[in-house]
Amino acid sequence: MGKVAVAFAAVAVVAACSVAAMMVGRRMKSRRKWRTVVEILKELEDDCDTPVARLRQVVDAMAVEMHAGLASEGGSKLKMLLTFVHVLPTGREKGTYYALHLGGTYFRILRVHLGAQRSYLDVQDVERHPIPSHLMNSTSEVLFNFLAFSLERFIEKEENGSISQGVKRELAFTFSFPVKHTSISSGVLIKWTKGFEISEMVGKDIAECLQGALDRRGLNMHVAALVNDTVGALSLGYYHDPDTVVAVVFGTGSNACYLERTDAIIKCQGLLTTSGSMVVNMEWGNFWSSHLPRTSYDIDLDAESSNSNDMGFEKMISGMYLGDIVRRVILRMSQESDVFGPTTSVLSDPYVLSTNSVSAMHEDDTPELQEVARVLKDLGVSDVPLKVRKLVVKICDVVTRRAGRLAAAGIAGILKKIGRDGSGGITSGRSRSEIQMQKRTVVAVEGGLYMNYVMFREYMEEALVEILGEEVSQYVVVKAMEDGSSIGSALLVASLQS
Ligand code: ADP
Ligand code: MG
Repeated sequence: MGKVAVAFAAVAVVAACSVAAMMVGRRMKSRRKWRTVVEILKELEDDCDTPVARLRQVVDAMAVEMHAGLASEGGSKLKMLLTFVHVLPTGREKGTYYALHLGGTYFRILRVHLGAQRSYLDVQDVERHPIPSHLMNSTSEVLFNFLAFSLERFIEKEENGSISQGVKRELAFTFSFPVKHTSISSGVLIKWTKGFEISEMVGKDIAECLQGALDRRGLNMHVAALVNDTVGALSLGYYHDPDTVVAVVFGTGSNACYLERTDAIIKCQGLLTTSGSMVVNMEWGNFWSSHLPRTSYDIDLDAESSNSNDMGFEKMISGMYLGDIVRRVILRMSQESDVFGPTTSVLSDPYVLSTNSVSAMHEDDTPELQEVARVLKDLGVSDVPLKVRKLVVKICDVVTRRAGRLAAAGIAGILKKIGRDGSGGITSGRSRSEIQMQKRTVVAVEGGLYMNYVMFREYMEEALVEILGEEVSQYVVVKAMEDGSSIGSALLVASLQS
């Protein structure tokens, strides 16, 4: 070989070595980056861990807080609000009734026709529309005029265009925000939640506001009851099955109510009802306990929300927030590694990732995770490899599993408070035989998160059995109530008339 050839060969070898070194370097760097995201995931898993022992601590804390909230006004973060509902629909109601439901995302209008037999419940013309976002921070006048206008259109449709004034229509107003009731048909707004911010409405009588708007439109309609959405769900549950004593909503937000003995409502001594009990609206979204597994993402989400230091439980378990927790994890991973490639600023927008999209990714059963790719693309993340898409599914799983399991602990806490968890409750003095006499207990559940996100529902139900044990679980029936909040509220109004 000539000198020149040797020199060429040497250069080629050096070049090949440096390319190889570069590739090894890159591979090592990319492995390091991958290790970073794996560590972030591991940290998330650890921080969201909910072993059954921890869930039991949450159960106990829920039951203790319920007691405290019933003992004195302001005694707990749980408001344990009186609803003035002490008789629930029996199935013997008859007539035609309306319900208007203002939820966190949707408003619904429907009509029920009842024929004095449980089997004769005809739910007619259910209308469901997203609440126009500008209404959430408008004025009470704008909001209620809109609701009255929507009701008018609903009735016009029912009557083919002309509204006969001779008929007085009885309406239930299902309102999914905390209200301090003074009677079943009146109560003032305590605070907004779920992103609503019409400050001048706090302290106003909600039923009066709606009645005023209906009167201004000349609609012959009477707001016969102001009903929390959970109480509506309980009413429908009870109508079908009188063993229903608890109702829980998992939708945009989350809340629960249950039937309590009046003598246990210590803060209202002397409260008398014909049934000896009253439905209590817990407003459990505001539940807090140091046993709740909180992550840095929860802390940041809360700090940046319009109601920080408020609704801590709701922010871990409900539809408005799960998507944003997942988004925050992905955002951090994309900032600390390049596994998501070059990202756009979309990922930094609060609430840009909805919980609907989280469930679509979580439940993506295509081999290539095409749904995950589609959702990520909408977030400005394109062409990520399959292993990164799998990582995203895992994040959805961790966040939703924690939510479902904590939701179950909340339910078990209520069962414990009323002595239906097989342990005899937290108050002593029950005899052994009483403890052993487990009653059948139905928990009515509704809300878009529960109805549509199968993995959330399965995690919740699985954890409930884990907490209660196989034997007691046999007596606890969880029943889904589609549109229960609105239908049940109409039934409640019907039961008031009979
Ligand atoms: P509202 O809270 O207005 O009463 P819903 O009870 O229908 O309304 O709950 C709507 C919320 O439920 C949505 O905002 C979303 O957070 C959640 N949700 C609805 N469908 C799904 C779904 N397929 N997957 C995950 N979450 C869902
Ligand atoms: Mg709802």
